[in-house]
Amino acid sequence: MKILLRNNDLNEALSFSSNVGFVPTMGSLHKGHISLIKRSLNYCNKTIVSIFVNPKQFNNKSDYKRYPRNLKKDLKILKKLNVNFVYTPNKKQIYNSRNKIKIQLTKKDKILCAKYRKGHFEGVIDVMIRLTKILKPTRIFMGEKDFQQLFLVKKFIESNFKSKIIPCKTIRDKNKLALSSRNLLLNKKDLIKAGKISKELISFKKKLSKKNFTNKIIRLKKNELEKFYGINIEYLEVRNEKNLKLSKKIKNSRIFLAYYLNDIRLIDNF
Ligand code: AMP
Repeated sequence: MKILLRNNDLNEALSFSSNVGFVPTMGSLHKGHISLIKRSLNYCNKTIVSIFVNPKQFNNKSDYKRYPRNLKKDLKILKKLNVNFVYTPNKKQIYNSRNKIKIQLTKKDKILCAKYRKGHFEGVIDVMIRLTKILKPTRIFMGEKDFQQLFLVKKFIESNFKSKIIPCKTIRDKNKLALSSRNLLLNKKDLIKAGKISKELISFKKKLSKKNFTNKIIRLKKNELEKFYGINIEYLEVRNEKNLKLSKKIKNSRIFLAYYLNDIRLIDNF
């Protein structure tokens, strides 16, 4: 496994391979990331994993500061997996001043997290464009856990580059909580609570699939969860998976959830 710190090292390392798989991450790797990496190792000749906590996608400075970082442990995991390259650039390498990128989301895109985290996806798309330009991967593996991110990045990247975005299923722990680096910021009690909330929404979706439902049913569920678990829900919405439009049918739709547990923001979709 080669650790690449500079962009020059990259050109040399990637020039000989035609089928490069890329897994962009912010580190603190868990089994969710590992599933993406294994998929890339299976499909591609070479796999490159990036670890970069991207300051531009944090709309809150303290969130950026406290984001978990575990580079040493991450490198151990990646070595064991037999990843070919790890790219761990610094801010300067990614954001060199000559390249300014202006991302504009459409009004239609300003829903779910784009509505509540101003500038977040502009930051994500910006860094993904920069990384794609540098690495020129054949395939980019991304998780459905961050469904709106996957949706927007696919739209921007596939219309501007040859790289294909490959969606990968959400990996959950035994309590059905979606794995996330942010879970490291939760205490044991909150981890259990978050698992219960996930289970509840999985069974709620099953019940919805048996009938047409109204906005009122979703609103009532939101209130019920907030009261019972003492959480603050930012959104609980059912949207179509293909276009993210609000939906009244559960077929081809997902339930999207964002909430705060104490002051930790969690997102998921079911
Ligand atoms: P992050 O390090 O949080 O930016 O995530 C890097 C990639 O891993 C993104 O494409 C995420 O959607 C994906 N990912 C994060 N958590 C999971 C999970 N539990 N299951 C599958 N993919 C995940």
